[in-house]
This record gives sequence, structure tokens and C-alpha cells, in this order.
Amino acid sequence: MMRMSSAPAPFTASITFLMIGDPATGCRTLGKGLFIRVPLPAARMITERGGDSVLLIGTHGTVLSTRGQDSLTLNGIMPNDAQRPILHLPIWKKTTLGTPIELFASSSLEHLRQEKPILLMGGVHGDEPEGVRLATDTLSWLKSNTSSGKTICPWIVIPCLNVDGFAKKTRVNGRGVDLNRNYPAKDWSSEARAERYSPGPSAASEVEVQAVVELVESVKPRLIIHCHSWKPCVVGVGSKIDTDRLSRSSGYAGSEDIGYPTPGSLSSFGWFDHKVPVICIEEDDTLKDYDTIWPRFRGGMIEIFEDLSLRGQTR
Ligand SMILES: [Zn+2]
Repeated sequence: MMRMSSAPAPFTASITFLMIGDPATGCRTLGKGLFIRVPLPAARMITERGGDSVLLIGTHGTVLSTRGQDSLTLNGIMPNDAQRPILHLPIWKKTTLGTPIELFASSSLEHLRQEKPILLMGGVHGDEPEGVRLATDTLSWLKSNTSSGKTICPWIVIPCLNVDGFAKKTRVNGRGVDLNRNYPAKDWSSEARAERYSPGPSAASEVEVQAVVELVESVKPRLIIHCHSWKPCVVGVGSKIDTDRLSRSSGYAGSEDIGYPTPGSLSSFGWFDHKVPVICIEEDDTLKDYDTIWPRFRGGMIEIFEDLSLRGQTR
């Protein structure tokens, strides 16, 4: 943290970060319009350092200071109380085949350990693109609302977990395992209903599942939502209020049980073993127009992410 040699004047400036970091790596790239309040002396320090693509804008929209091509570097200067940039890890983890899995979050994963974030995932099954679309469209809403400074629940989004299955349009991952049967839940079973439900050679044998398990145990989300497609429904355990929100918004029936056994599923691991509520959204897998997905769930998602009262609680 930076210390000023003399007491700073009680004046603050809003700063708009157009971009921070190296665009080639895709890391810490911010959308236009993230406002952070810092003391004016800190703002002056920023302008003196040089760097890339940050523009300072005064509280009333006037440009306070720019350097070169609106260029500044922020490393180490961001004050503790500043709004944090959106985290983007283009290579959060890699699959066994070496394919990167991407992760976005409202702040650093370290910081989120105290924040009870909501974890949203798509593409658990690679042949269910509707779920990837819903996760991606929800992410767009989350990013723009986080950047604009609106107070919403802290969040983590993995737009597509099963990237190898998604590329091949298969339910299973690159090793032929159904990721939603591979969680190290107490009810994990080596028996498969059919080949496409293969639970893997052992519980949590798959790196995609290991990655989610590690994340869940580390940040202890207040809620997990994973987006699939099948017969349209919303199946939730541990948070009826949130299940009802998504059910109401979409018009899809809400329930606590999908109607058949799912040993080794995220619901078993998350809720039944760790008391983290889990909602599984099943979009209609016969859907033709994917542009209709986000409008259908938008209302429920916004209610969930704007409700700060449930953090740290389960219902
Ligand atoms: Zn699925």
C-alpha cells in the first residue's frame, strides 16, 4: 500500500480505467467505465508513472489528467477501498488434453474467500450449448454491472467447464467421463446408467472436477448455479427462494429433484455433503433461437445477484 508523506487533501477523483495490464495476455482487461475513487494525491502519482491505457476522469466527467495516449500504469497504487477490477483468467486451469478453462470473477479469488460469492458455470456437459450461452450472457450482465460500480453479489463465472466436450459436442469430457457424475460426493458410484454417464475411474478423477472442488472448498460459495439443457426445468437444493426466482422468471417448473438418481453430481457434493446450495438450470434442448435464453432467465438472475441479504445464509 502506498503511503503519502503528507496528509492528502480531502478531495477524491473518480477514475475510469479503460484497460490495465497486457492486452496480449487478456489478463486484467477491464471494460470501459469502471469507476474507482482514490485520493487526488494517489491520482497524481498514477499520472506520473506512465504505462498503458488508463484515463483519469474527474467526478463531473472532466478529464483530470492523461499521459501520452491516455496511458498510465496502476500497479501497486490501487487503494484498499477502491473497487477491484474484474478478474479474468484465460487459463484458469487446463484439461488433461491441455485445453484452457477460462474463469471470470468480481475480484481476486483470494479476496473472494471472505465474500461468499455466487458461482455460475456453463458447459458442464459439452453437448449442451444452451447452458454455455446462458452463462455467457449472465456474465455480460455481471461484468457491466460490476464495472459500473453497482452493488451486486460477488461472483465467479466459468462460462464453459467441459471445454473438450464442448469442442467435440459430447456430453462427456476428453477422457469420456460425465463431469456431473465424477464429484467426490458420498454417493459417488462406479456404476454408470449408460456410457455417456460414465462416472470415471474414481471420484474426482477428472481435472475439471478437481478444479471446481478446489474452488468450492476455497471460496465456499453462498450458491452454485450450473446451466444445462434437457427438458426445461429448474432443479435446486438448499435455496428454494433462488430456485423459485429462476422458475418464475423462466416459467419452467422448479423442483428439488430431477426425477432420477444422480450419484456423484454437483448437487450431491455441493449441498448434501457441504451445505452449499446448488441450482441446476435445464434449458429446453430443442430450442432453436438462443437469443431467447437470457431474456427468459434475466429477471431471476438479477433478483439473485442483486439480493445481498442472503450472503452467508442458506435456505
Ligand atoms: Zn447437462
